[in-house]
Amino acid sequence: MLIDTHCHLYDEAFRSDFEEVLSRARDAGMEACILPGIDRSCHDDLLAVADALPGFAFPCIGLHPTSVGEDWQEELDFVRNHVNDRKFHAIGEIGLDEYWSKDFVEQQIRVLEEQIALAASLDLPVIIHLREATGDFFRVLEDLRGVAFRGVMHAWSGSYETYRRLLGYADFKFGIGGVVTYKNAGVAVALEKMSLDDVVVETDCPWLTPVPFRGRRNEPAYVRLVAEKIAQIKGLPLAEVAAATTANARRLFQL
Ligand SMILES: [Zn+2]
Repeated sequence: MLIDTHCHLYDEAFRSDFEEVLSRARDAGMEACILPGIDRSCHDDLLAVADALPGFAFPCIGLHPTSVGEDWQEELDFVRNHVNDRKFHAIGEIGLDEYWSKDFVEQQIRVLEEQIALAASLDLPVIIHLREATGDFFRVLEDLRGVAFRGVMHAWSGSYETYRRLLGYADFKFGIGGVVTYKNAGVAVALEKMSLDDVVVETDCPWLTPVPFRGRRNEPAYVRLVAEKIAQIKGLPLAEVAAATTANARRLFQL
C-alpha cells in the first residue's frame, strides 16, 4: 500500500472524472493521500475533498511561495486564523520559488520563516516547495537555527550532498515524484545512496507526470510508477519500498 504525500486531488483537473480517478488510485494500491494547500483560493475545495474522503485524504494549510504577492499579509493572516479550525496534517506547501518570479523574494523569505515557526509551535510538519532558491533556503535555515521542526522536501531533485546538508538542519524527509522516472534524472543518482528511511513518495498531481504518461495529466494512481522506479534504482522489492515509504509518511504526518 502507498501514500501519495503530495496530491492536489482537489484541483479542477479532476472534477469531471473524480470517482474514476479515485478508483484507479485505490486499484494501484494507494491507501491515503496528503492534500497540500496553496492559498485562500483553493482552501474550500481542499476541505471539501478531505471531508468527502475521511481517513483517505488528509488536509493541510499553507501559503505557497508563488502565491506571495501584494496581498501576502492577508494571505498569511488567513493561514494563522484558520490553522486551528480543525486537524491539519502539515503547514504547506510553503517555501521559496525564484523560478517563476523574483519580484517578492524578500516577502517569500519572511512568509516562509513565519510559517516554519508556526509549524514548530504547533508541532506540525512542513511541506517545502523549493525551486531555484537553494541559497536563500539555506540562509533561512541558518536564521532558524535552534527552531526544532520537521518536514518534507517536496518534489526532491537535489544532489546527495544537498540532501546530507539539509539533514544537518532539521528532520527532513524527501518527496520523490515523477521526475525520478525521467531520462538522466539526477535524483536517481542521489537516490542510490539516500536512506529509504528518509524517502516518501508523491505525485504532485495533476503536474509532474511520470514516464510513460509524461505530457498528460498526472493522477494519484501513478504514485505506483514512482515507487516501482525507486525499487528498481535501489534494487529492492516494490513491497519493501511501499512499506518503508508508507511508514515514513504515517510518522511524519501523524496519520
Ligand atoms: Zn504541490
